Amino acid sequence: LQHIDRTNVWHPFTQMAEWAQQDQLIIESGKGNWLMDTEGNQYLDGVSSLWTNVHGHCVPEIDKAVQEQLAKIAHTTMLGLASVPATELAKRLVDILPAGLTRVFYSDSGSTAVEVALKIAFQFQQQAEKGDSDRIKFISMQNAYHGDTIGSVSVGGMDLFHATYKHMLFQGEKVITPYCYRCPFGKDKSNCDHECFQHVEDALEAHGSTAAAFVIEPLVQGAAGQLMHPEGYLTHVRNLCTRHNIILIADEVAVGFGKTGTMFACEQENITPDIICLAKGISAGYLPLAATVTSEEIYNGFLGNHEEFKTFFHGHTYTGNPLACAAAIANLDYFENNNVMEKLQPKIAHLQNRLTAMLELKHIGEIRNRGVMTGIELVQDKATKAPFATAEKIGHKVCMEARKHGVIIRNLGDVIVLMPPLSITLSEIDLLCNATTEAIKTVTE
Ligand code: PMP
Repeated sequence: LQHIDRTNVWHPFTQMAEWAQQDQLIIESGKGNWLMDTEGNQYLDGVSSLWTNVHGHCVPEIDKAVQEQLAKIAHTTMLGLASVPATELAKRLVDILPAGLTRVFYSDSGSTAVEVALKIAFQFQQQAEKGDSDRIKFISMQNAYHGDTIGSVSVGGMDLFHATYKHMLFQGEKVITPYCYRCPFGKDKSNCDHECFQHVEDALEAHGSTAAAFVIEPLVQGAAGQLMHPEGYLTHVRNLCTRHNIILIADEVAVGFGKTGTMFACEQENITPDIICLAKGISAGYLPLAATVTSEEIYNGFLGNHEEFKTFFHGHTYTGNPLACAAAIANLDYFENNNVMEKLQPKIAHLQNRLTAMLELKHIGEIRNRGVMTGIELVQDKATKAPFATAEKIGHKVCMEARKHGVIIRNLGDVIVLMPPLSITLSEIDLLCNATTEAIKTVTE
């Protein structure tokens, strides 16, 4: 066994997590959908290493592309220069994104992809009014998670992550998130009248004229606990944004690159946002990369008569890094050459069958699923939907128990998150579901 001194590593989110006090697994290598730690144990990567490694680990074709790029050049600036991979990737993205999204701006994380989108939207609105626009607010969703930078936190809505920084944040309006299992409007399936649709309509009626943009995680609010918006909600928001001249920013950082069963979530409602944010799966978990993609209309909106607004004042040093872009191109090649999205459909069906069977468990209140994105909400009492006491940390315990069965999963409170790589096999889906079932039973029954 290797001795590894862990003293100097500061893990994200540590103090609030119970595992801050515990030794972390140290991962040494990965292969396919599996992770190997320094002690020789192997684990199925049930959450694609934080929703990024869509084809698993050490994918030979992507390894090769990165190595070949490394032999040419690892980094060059995008400031006044361009690189071959960055240029090619922009074209490739435009080819597969919803039609009309044509201008690609790179950055290096999901948070910065959102930050860039906010600045583009704000600047576009200011330019349109010669710097005098009242459209200075952002409308976003309660419980949303858009990243950790100040802008992305400002449009986020998870108290757990954001309350500490509240005095640093810019103000905006938050729309109540649809959550059918615990309807915030007090309804259930029998008497639902789509109050959440009316609510967002009212919010835009009230704040539409002072808003620059509306920010949304399309279809699934991931970090909120895999909350799935009702069918048609995204279309409704798209239409409202058009009606009120608000820019629609779709944050596809989590849902993008196949995870909801289509390449991009927006495809499922056939809508085109004005700006889309991409990260995580864009480079298949190889290197940090993000892209914010917008339309000709918005891009050209910067080219007005006002000098001070003509430049987009944003650019990170590693913007469009050639190694990351080479990985992203190889990722898109892999999707195409291996018919990943086609082969995914029977896997989703199998996963859904297995999940339906799991609903029998005494302490599973609801299972939410779209594609491979899955949230299993644990409750203390199924009939009343009463949650477990927070202090019990049931969700966390389930994840630790699952490790004993060789599976890495995550929890968001008492919602267990499964988000396996698209490359997961049917038997690995069985293993994932069996381990999760056993872990839930052991901890809750
Ligand atoms: N947006 C969404 C929807 C996310 O889920 C995340 C990360 N979980 C982010 C933005 C932030 O991405 P990153 O951690 O790469 O900054």
